[in-house]
Amino acid sequence: MKKYNFYAGPSILPQYTLDKTIEGIKDFAGSGLSVLEISHRSKEFIACMNDTIALVRELLEVPAGYHVIFLGGGASLQFAMVPMNMMNKKSAYLNTGEWASKALKEAKLYGEVVEVASSKDKNFNFIPKNYTVPEDSDYFHVTTNNTIYGTELKKDPVVRIPLVADMSSDIFSRPVDVSKYSIIYAGAQKNLAPAGVTMIILKEEVLGKVTRPIPTMLDYRTHIKAESMFNTPPVFAVFAAQQTLRWLKDLGGVKAIQKKNIEKARLLYDEIDRNKLFVPTIKDPEDRSLMNICFVMSDGYKELEKPFAEFAKSKGMVGIEGHRSVGGFRASTYNALPIESVKALVDVMKEFEKKS
Ligand SMILES: *Cc1c(COP(=O)(O)O)cnc(C)c1O
Repeated sequence: MKKYNFYAGPSILPQYTLDKTIEGIKDFAGSGLSVLEISHRSKEFIACMNDTIALVRELLEVPAGYHVIFLGGGASLQFAMVPMNMMNKKSAYLNTGEWASKALKEAKLYGEVVEVASSKDKNFNFIPKNYTVPEDSDYFHVTTNNTIYGTELKKDPVVRIPLVADMSSDIFSRPVDVSKYSIIYAGAQKNLAPAGVTMIILKEEVLGKVTRPIPTMLDYRTHIKAESMFNTPPVFAVFAAQQTLRWLKDLGGVKAIQKKNIEKARLLYDEIDRNKLFVPTIKDPEDRSLMNICFVMSDGYKELEKPFAEFAKSKGMVGIEGHRSVGGFRASTYNALPIESVKALVDVMKEFEKKS
């Protein structure tokens, strides 16, 4: 049976990425070796790394003065590397979800952390709006897409201090004005590649301002200088990322994919709003994520949660259970998810409503 992959991460990749990585596993860049067994210092892989970085720069229009690096450790390691490299005394965080909370917790190891606003008491079902960021903070940290709760910060915050963003789950889903940010980081396993690599875009001038000793591996400057080759990078994941970026470029880039993402999300939110069995967990359309669409059973239909989950599963839907802290359902509609999958889910929802 055809499967429709709505997993939140690791998640669906373009068929192009799968096909090209299979080719690369058999014969990487005509080397006669597999990408799984080739030296990261080989000319073939150095070319792959350089091209991957060039594609990131092109697709996101990364300005001069910024570096693009690829590291291991996931987005979670960035929760600690950011304050370690940027925070002298004080930093500010917008707390919009579980990942934002985890980032904030790590920063507290390095100094004073101001939580400028939080939507925690409403189970993170909105993005706080009117808050003040203390201007004596070394930086302001936001999470642009809250993967678990299904909210998204679609407008760049306006601050006069360096801005840092965890964009793990909406990177490359829409255009971003990189010049407004000092650091952007993203674990690859949502919109880019298999798990194992994190992409970081950094503004050169914000580094080197802290006085604490930083372990070599955790110092951004190490990896900038070594062009992500200080130690062995996640070769396979970088290679896969290159394929996804080529696919995205061929498709017309981030503007083109944004159009598709808007269309997919609209289709599903419209059905959630229309269908009497379901309600969205995020009420304000402005805050609704285009990547992770969360919904629960309406009042009076709560007992249909399990039957719906089973019905959807029987129709090939995979990964639509909500995160354990939210319950209900979450359909992740990342770049690689075709609109046909969303249509199939909508059909399942309609069919279930009819037979209930
Ligand atoms: C998935 C995710 C993370 C965690 O990424 P890891 O690579 O598992 O460390 C952090 N932030 C956001 C927004 C995420 O979606």
